[in-house]
Amino acid sequence: MKSFSSPAIILRRLDFGDYDVILTLFALERGKISTIAKSAKKSIKRFGGILEIFSVLNVVCSSGKGGSLVVLQEADLISSLSDIRTDFNKTAYACYWSEIVNAWAENDTKQERLYRLLYYVLEQINSGCISAEILSILFQMRFASIAGICPNLIRCSMCQLSVDSLREERISFDFQKGGIVCRKCTGNSGNRLSLSKGTIKQLLWINSGDLEKVGKIRFTCLALDEGLSFLEAFMTYYLGKEMQSLKILRQIRNKKRK
Ligand SMILES: [Zn+2]
Repeated sequence: MKSFSSPAIILRRLDFGDYDVILTLFALERGKISTIAKSAKKSIKRFGGILEIFSVLNVVCSSGKGGSLVVLQEADLISSLSDIRTDFNKTAYACYWSEIVNAWAENDTKQERLYRLLYYVLEQINSGCISAEILSILFQMRFASIAGICPNLIRCSMCQLSVDSLREERISFDFQKGGIVCRKCTGNSGNRLSLSKGTIKQLLWINSGDLEKVGKIRFTCLALDEGLSFLEAFMTYYLGKEMQSLKILRQIRNKKRK
């Protein structure tokens, strides 16, 4: 890899030995990249203490000797998004989204839409203008579209009847089929997750239109709870593993409810 410069979000930060730091970056121009920031631990001056998780930077990187490890040469702060790191709830959500990106994205593959989506939700959760729960629903729905795994919530996956024409108020979702299945087609078999029609409508709504309109969406408590449980189960199913940060997120939510 030749040297490159790009805006980038820090997805992960790992101390490496006594002096260095290994960073997983999600760069606008290059997608996911692992880099080593030499002497970042030893000398605060070297990078001015800006190499924090979720920070957005302008980076200059070059390939290391032998072409193995990418070396972070320079970094300038675009936005520190520091309010995320001082709030436990915000940190948990931001960790969850970063973990999904890290688990799914391939190294050195540009993902401009995903970069802009992640940047948007991190900026919004940092400012606190939109609730973390709504942002998480937005992130997961739009991530699923970008990743080509968007759940089919528009019509029965088997008989193709549209959701509007279904009489039942609660509709089953079949993970294997990747979509909703009407009562006639499901019969009594299987233990599937079910969603209310209202939740389905709101999930479809959040997945359409400009990101900027999202702040105006009002979710009912039921739709928020159902939407989050459904999307988190959906992500776990499609990514083939449960994100570590999801366990922490659930613990925080359970504590809030008590
Ligand atoms: Zn059907």
